[in-house]
Amino acid sequence: MKLTFLGTAAAEGIPSAFCDCPTCDHARQHLGKNVRKRQAVLVNDDLLIDNGPDVYAACGMYGISLVQVKYNLITHSHSDHFLGSNLAMRTRSFRRQSTIVPMQLTAPPSVFKLFGQGNDEALDLTRMTIVPNQSFELPPYRIQSLTASHHEASGDAMNFIIDDGSKKLLFASDTGMYKEQVWDEMAGHSFDLIIIESTTTDTDHQKVHLNYSGVHTMLEKMEQIGAKRPDTTVYVSHFSHQHNPSHDELVELYGRTGIHVAYDGMTLEL
Ligand SMILES: [Zn+2]
Ligand SMILES: [Zn+2]
Ligand SMILES: [Zn+2]
Repeated sequence: MKLTFLGTAAAEGIPSAFCDCPTCDHARQHLGKNVRKRQAVLVNDDLLIDNGPDVYAACGMYGISLVQVKYNLITHSHSDHFLGSNLAMRTRSFRRQSTIVPMQLTAPPSVFKLFGQGNDEALDLTRMTIVPNQSFELPPYRIQSLTASHHEASGDAMNFIIDDGSKKLLFASDTGMYKEQVWDEMAGHSFDLIIIESTTTDTDHQKVHLNYSGVHTMLEKMEQIGAKRPDTTVYVSHFSHQHNPSHDELVELYGRTGIHVAYDGMTLEL
C-alpha cells in the first residue's frame, strides 16, 4: 500500500491567509514542511480520500496526476474535504484525452446533496451512496465505514477501514473520541497503519476533534481491543494552526511516543 499526503491541514490551512498567529507567521518565514494544505490522501494511484480546495494545487506541486483514480471516497461534507467543482474539470471540454478512467464518487448523502444533480456521463462519473457502519467493496479494496464523532451539522461524517488485500489502514479524520458503538464496529480488525487526526493539539475538548491526549486515548483503546499492534505504524495529520506548533515541534512532541507526523507531499509505502 502506498499513500501520498496531498494535504495535512484542517479547514484554514497553515498558514491561514487571514491569520498572523505564531504558527502561521512561523510557516510564512520557514515554509517547507510547516506549510500545510487542506487534507487529502491518495491511496496507491487509484483511490483518493476526500477532494477539497487544495487538491489541484497539491497535484501540481508534487507531479501527481489523478487520471488513474477509480474511486473518490469522501469522509464528510465540510468544505476542506469536498469541493464539487474539482470534479467538473473531468468534462470533455476541459481535457484533451478522448477516454479517461471512469471514477466512482463514493460518499455520504450530505456530500451528494452538496454536489447536486449534474451530467455524470459527461464527467465519466458514477455515484455510490454510503453511510456510517457499512461494509462495501471498491475492488480491490474492502472498506468499512465507521461513525465519526464530528459536528452534527456536517451530517454523516465517517472514518474508514481500508484493506487493499495486503495491508489494512484506519483513516481516522475528522473525529473526536469514538462513541462506544464504534469500538464494536472495529472489533476483529488489526491495523498495519493508522492515520489519526490531531486538529486541536493543546485544547481539551474531544467531542468533534482530537488533541494530543485524545490521540493517545484513542490509540490505547485500539491496543486494548487488539486493533493496534506493537508494530502498527501511526501518523498524525489534519492540523489546525490555532492549536498546533511548527512541524519540528510536532515531530519532537509526538516522537516521544513513537508517533510520526505527516507533512504535505509525503509518500509512505508499506
Ligand atoms: Zn477537516
Ligand atoms: Zn494562524
Ligand atoms: Zn470536518
